[in-house]
Amino acid sequence: MGESVIPLADLRTRATPARIPAQPIPAIGLLADRLGRPLRDLRISVTDRCNFRCSYCMPKEVFDRDYRFLPQPELLSFEEIARVAQLFVAHGVAKLRLTGGEPLLRKGLEALIAQLATLRTPAGEPLDITLTTNGTLLARKAAVLREAGLKRVTVSLDALDDAVFRRMNDVDFPVADVLAGIDAALAAGLAPVKVNMVVKRGTNDHEIVPLARHVRERFGLGVVLRFIEYMDVGATNGWRLDEVLPSAEVRARLHAAFPLEKLPPAAPGETAERWRYADGGGEVGFISSVTQAFCGDCNRARLSTEGKLFLCLFATQGHDLRALLRGGASDQDIASAIGLAWQEREDRYSELRGSGAAEPGSGERRIEMHYIGG
Ligand code: SAM
Ligand code: SF4
Ligand code: SF4
Repeated sequence: MGESVIPLADLRTRATPARIPAQPIPAIGLLADRLGRPLRDLRISVTDRCNFRCSYCMPKEVFDRDYRFLPQPELLSFEEIARVAQLFVAHGVAKLRLTGGEPLLRKGLEALIAQLATLRTPAGEPLDITLTTNGTLLARKAAVLREAGLKRVTVSLDALDDAVFRRMNDVDFPVADVLAGIDAALAAGLAPVKVNMVVKRGTNDHEIVPLARHVRERFGLGVVLRFIEYMDVGATNGWRLDEVLPSAEVRARLHAAFPLEKLPPAAPGETAERWRYADGGGEVGFISSVTQAFCGDCNRARLSTEGKLFLCLFATQGHDLRALLRGGASDQDIASAIGLAWQEREDRYSELRGSGAAEPGSGERRIEMHYIGG
């Protein structure tokens, strides 16, 4: 990374106060934002810490020994997270994703999962509870997470080659241990496991076919491999467009090795375009935030580690829900504040970037991904 890393301005302390409207906004699952998009998916960052230093997310040069992560009292407690999550669910959220940072570094995370697993949608359905992890602690924790009520898991894995993988995580962590974590997740019943590979041209693009081949051979239909375009999230990764390998190119390379057929979307608002191997070898996905924005049906909200509501991955400010939670606000007040923020939402950064109306890296500094959750 070296020269391209941009120093970090601490945006974590900035927040828009969450406003409580004069008229309560009923939480009956019918919210829509200014572009008519419903609220269905909540991503919760449970820690801003991570044991990896992936250069595209937490470059070592910035997130070094002197970097000050949030102190424990600043983090939402499990009780606070569960209370807010319940209000989101009343507004229509049906899917919760725990993320970070590395979520499995948060002590006792299974206790939070157990609390979230008791929530029900207004129609009485259990929630789809999932987690995104770098897989380092999965071999140890998969069974207990499953027992607590976790349904599925997404594991990030950027290369099969050990040397490439160690370089990308930048803490010299071996690939074999992540693969063992995926084995453990499958054995615990957290299937199908999704595996996310962020593709950076010139760094790991030669790993596309080897990783796909290994996933097919080792995990078969139990794992769906998804290729993510390298995104200009945050303000520290020194993102450059020439390091993005468009999904179309990733797909062409994969198709040359294993012919692919397109699948219809499984659900509205889905981030990945789904394809399957023509030989029945399973499914793959392509997440093309840079070359094919999917803001049009983006139904995702993010809750940061310290309780700020972010309405877009590329947002520069969040709405401070923790101040309400700790200031004695009622459930109705907090639900109304969430409702108002969503009703006023008009974010569509990737579309604007794609149309040239937003310059990557321009304007206000964006918040870091490990803090608001991937
Ligand atoms: N530590 C966990 C992990 O890596 O799975 C969860 C948090 S991480 C921020 C969530 C996801 O964001 C990971 O799949 C990671 O690869 C992805 N990610 C992080 N920075 C990215 C970037 N600049 N472009 C594309 N994806 C990125
Ligand atoms: Fe950590 Fe995940 Fe970011 Fe990598 S992508 S530095 S594992 S939070
Ligand atoms: Fe959603 Fe923002 Fe991503 Fe568009 S850029 S898909 S609005 S998170």
